Amino acid sequence: MEVPKQIILCIEDESPIHLFLKTSLTANGYAYLQAFTGEEGLVQAATRNPDLILLDLGLPDMDGLEVTRRLREWSKKPIIVISARERETEKVAALDMGVDDYLTKPFGVPELLARIRSALRRASSSVGPTEEPVFKHGDLKVDLAHRRVWHGEEEVHLTPREFKLLAALVRHAGKVVTQRQLLTEIWGEAYVNQTHYLRVHMNNLRQKLEKDSGRPQHFLTEPGVGYRLAVD
Ligand code: CA
Repeated sequence: MEVPKQIILCIEDESPIHLFLKTSLTANGYAYLQAFTGEEGLVQAATRNPDLILLDLGLPDMDGLEVTRRLREWSKKPIIVISARERETEKVAALDMGVDDYLTKPFGVPELLARIRSALRRASSSVGPTEEPVFKHGDLKVDLAHRRVWHGEEEVHLTPREFKLLAALVRHAGKVVTQRQLLTEIWGEAYVNQTHYLRVHMNNLRQKLEKDSGRPQHFLTEPGVGYRLAVD
């Protein structure tokens, strides 16, 4: 018996991009649904029950932020923003509003497929990454429950703030977390603009937990957006 295909809905106003995505995704075993406006996208999302939504931020009838806001009123399905580079601030706002990830145009098919797989995997493990007792990636091991961290064989001591930052990234492992989300979670609402706090603590984490802090394997920077803890 054939396994039902996972459905990807793409909300995007440019036909060539639909064609490119449709070709790539159907060739890789997904069913592809297309919408050219925000309104059409919202209707399809509600009626066709897609497993994942690809969302362009620059749409003719409403911006992607509005689409995100309306989708998030009732749907937890993963949303990956696909946007042009100049929409940086909107991209960050969309992440803060609950989209799962983003890709900047132009992007390659392997990158797209990897992001889709990762978002679908997170969505299907409904218990959530917080239930994972121990996070492992390469030489990094984190036991959230017992507040213990290892780099290779060696146990590493972190300050309480460093541990909080690491824990926030582990809870969202594989997903980009915005500077605002991290600052709010660790320091509080009043500190959302203190991005240098983050830089300092991220630097400490890299010094303590990366082989080469200049070329991080675990704590990846998403320029202008935030950070991502790498997963396999
Ligand atoms: Ca567009």
